[in-house]
Amino acid sequence: MEEWTLTVNDLKHFAYCEAIVYITHGIGVRERETEYMAYGGEVEKEEFLQQLLKKYSVARIHRGVTLSSRELQLTGKPDAVLETKMGELIPVEVKWAEPPRASRVKKDHLVQLIAYAILIEKSWPSRKSSVKRGLVYYLRPKPRFIEVYISSEDKKSVIQMVKRAVKVALGEVEPLTRRDCSSCNYRAYCPFAYTRNSSSSSI
Ligand code: SF4
Repeated sequence: MEEWTLTVNDLKHFAYCEAIVYITHGIGVRERETEYMAYGGEVEKEEFLQQLLKKYSVARIHRGVTLSSRELQLTGKPDAVLETKMGELIPVEVKWAEPPRASRVKKDHLVQLIAYAILIEKSWPSRKSSVKRGLVYYLRPKPRFIEVYISSEDKKSVIQMVKRAVKVALGEVEPLTRRDCSSCNYRAYCPFAYTRNSSSSSI
């Protein structure tokens, strides 16, 4: 494995099912980008970001920033990072999928936000304070955003998750798998499909 092959997207998949990191890195299968994914909702994303300017006293929107930590072997590219007039940095993710419950962010999306918070803290040169919150914007069925608080415990849990994900990717430990594989895109390639050893780990 290359030095920081794991991406925050890998970690999002890992939070869904640990086996995916092994399939993509150990076996080398990559998820095919669908038209839906390729479109990416750029117009909606930009409209959403503009809505946040006043609410969060945004001084600057950082787009296309790649964040990396050599120590964690992790890299990632958030949809945006808001920089407020007070110097706070807030990672933002835009998603097509609606959350399972009205007021809650999906677990894998939460892991993504926490991972970006960690990477900002480790790599942002002008950071003035720790990253304490993030935003997820769900485009469907009705556009809306959810703000989440990110604690230091959340960050510690995700750092442990990264360490475990690297071991799973390298084939050093067996992944914990989901009980239900029926809606998984990797089922055709997965050596762990249909096993029922455990549910995925929680943060
Ligand atoms: S097929 Fe099942 S075990 Fe394999 S990656 Fe998908 S959810 Fe996980």
